[in-house]
Amino acid sequence: MSSNEQAKHAARPDKPEPREVLADLSEGNQRFVMDRPRYPRSGMLRRRQAHLGDQAHHALATVLSCSDSRVPVELIFDVGIMDLFVVRTAGHALDSATLASVEYGMLHVHTPLLVVLGHSSCGAVTAALNMVKDNAVPHEASLRQLLDGIAPAVHQAMADSAEAEGGELLDRAIEENVRHTMRTLFQQSPAIKQGVADGDFAAVGAIYDLAHGRVRWLEPE
Ligand SMILES: [Zn+2]
Repeated sequence: MSSNEQAKHAARPDKPEPREVLADLSEGNQRFVMDRPRYPRSGMLRRRQAHLGDQAHHALATVLSCSDSRVPVELIFDVGIMDLFVVRTAGHALDSATLASVEYGMLHVHTPLLVVLGHSSCGAVTAALNMVKDNAVPHEASLRQLLDGIAPAVHQAMADSAEAEGGELLDRAIEENVRHTMRTLFQQSPAIKQGVADGDFAAVGAIYDLAHGRVRWLEPE
C-alpha cells in the first residue's frame, strides 16, 4: 500500500461495506412495509451519542431524496438518529448547493452508500411532464428552472416508450429522473464518480412506492 493509500484509509473511519448498508436499509424497509418498525437508535442514548460524537463515525448512507412529505426517509428505512445524511429537493433536482451537500455526505461524513430516491406519484415529475407535453409552464422562474432540469428525463421516457401514456408514462419518467440525477451527479462531481469507480463507496437508485411503502432498488446501468 502506498503512503497515499495509507493516508486515505487512515482518514476514513471504519464503516460497514456498501452492500451491508444496502442490506440493512432493505431489512428496515421490509419492517416498515410489514408495519413492524423497531425505531432503532432513536432514544436518549443515541441523542447523547450524537451530541458528543462525530457523525462521520456512524452515518451509513447519504440519501438524495425528493422533498415530498409523503416520503419520510428515516421512517421508510426504519433507521434512527445519525444513520442517514439526507439531502432533499423537489424531484431530487440538482443545483450547486445540492451537489455540495451530497459531496459532503460522501467525502466528509464518509457514508459508504449513496441512494438517489425517487417515488411514485412525484409532483415535480408530473409538473415537468405537464410542461413538456402541454406547455403548462409555472409562473415562478425558480420553479421553471427546476422543472427544466427534470425535462430531459421526461423527454427520454417519452422517446423510450412512445406508446406509454398517463400513469405508465409518469412511472417511466420518475425512474428516468432518478437515473438522470445519478448521471448528472457523476458528471458534475468527478470525486464521487472516482470514489464509486475505486470501490470506496457505492451509489444506487431507488423508487419508493407510496401505496405499499416498498423501496425498489434500480439495477445499475
Ligand atoms: Zn416528488
